[in-house]
Amino acid sequence: ERFKIEGGEQQITVACRIRPLTEEEILDGSSLIGHKIADDNMIVLMDPMEDPDDILRANRSREKQFVFDMVFDAKSSQQDVFEKTTKALLPGVLNGYNATVFAYGATGAGKTYTMLGTEQEPGIMFRTLHELFIEISKTSEDLMYQVSMSYLEIYNELIRDLLRPSNGFLELREDAKGGVQVAGISELVAETPEEVMYMLHKGNKERTQEPTKANKTSSRSHAVLQVNIKQRDKVRAQSQEIRMGKLYMIDLAGSERAAQTQNTGKRMVEGAHINRSLLALGNCINALSEKGSSKYVNYRDSKLTRILKDSLGGNSKTVMIAHISPASIHFEESRNTLVYADRAKYI
Ligand code: ADP
Ligand code: MG
Repeated sequence: ERFKIEGGEQQITVACRIRPLTEEEILDGSSLIGHKIADDNMIVLMDPMEDPDDILRANRSREKQFVFDMVFDAKSSQQDVFEKTTKALLPGVLNGYNATVFAYGATGAGKTYTMLGTEQEPGIMFRTLHELFIEISKTSEDLMYQVSMSYLEIYNELIRDLLRPSNGFLELREDAKGGVQVAGISELVAETPEEVMYMLHKGNKERTQEPTKANKTSSRSHAVLQVNIKQRDKVRAQSQEIRMGKLYMIDLAGSERAAQTQNTGKRMVEGAHINRSLLALGNCINALSEKGSSKYVNYRDSKLTRILKDSLGGNSKTVMIAHISPASIHFEESRNTLVYADRAKYI
């Protein structure tokens, strides 16, 4: 039994994607320790440090099982992932509701592949816009839609406009109704999915990257794509009411550092150099997945959660896609990610 909102549908959906082993992992001699159980929404992760010949312990502790709403593995296509996680949010967004899709996981686990993807295999961001344009073109003549988007980065709690980096750091501003706006962010009106794709790839190149010891680029920045859909009646005599739905698609910062924090009770405590927005998000998601109507969600603790204030909880839907590598060298990170995602579920 999961958390229900008025419509009888879940407010938070938690999915997990296991990417294929990379060439590098294979060359490293890493073994495959993460599996999806066929036809099931279960992931089995094996602890590579346990001795496989110790028969007594073997079945007891080597395997950890996790169940999610959806599980994707190397056989799942980008279109599968889009259709099963995000597509169902679009009718709501076209009707003025808000929704948020997160990609969570350690650096290298596949977050950017899922959200942005490649030019040959575009990810959720592109597929969503593509689908929205199709849906809009099918609606009745009496309705008018306008789709606009912003793309920003949160790095060290500073906000930058990825579509116009020369704008410098941007501030958050609260309006009279308690809504939070990013002051001065550029909002582009998009006409075609190809245009969107071009802007996203260009924007992504502006993200702050940090080289790590492993000579990879790790990312402590969150990339936030905000899509606004305004709807109004074309017929003048009728009400001029404008309905606005917002969809956030977020490629979160690598979670490897957040894993070093302790979770005391329901709240995570910030350690040195830990990503504040990632922590605050974890606390909000935990609060949202709690039972009962008296839950208290604290959005104030970070830039990311302040921006998402009206798109997490309430009538909004949230999809969290946790990402893991199946390789034995990444066991710790994968386990931490699965534990985090597991806590996001309603118990
Ligand atoms: P992250 O954004 O979490 O740091 P990336 O999305 O950059 O990780 O993925 C790391 C590498 O793995 C990239 O080379 C990417 O192309 C590849 N990759 C990730 N997920 C998949 C997948 N589902 N199928 C094929 N390759 C993938
Ligand atoms: Mg990335």
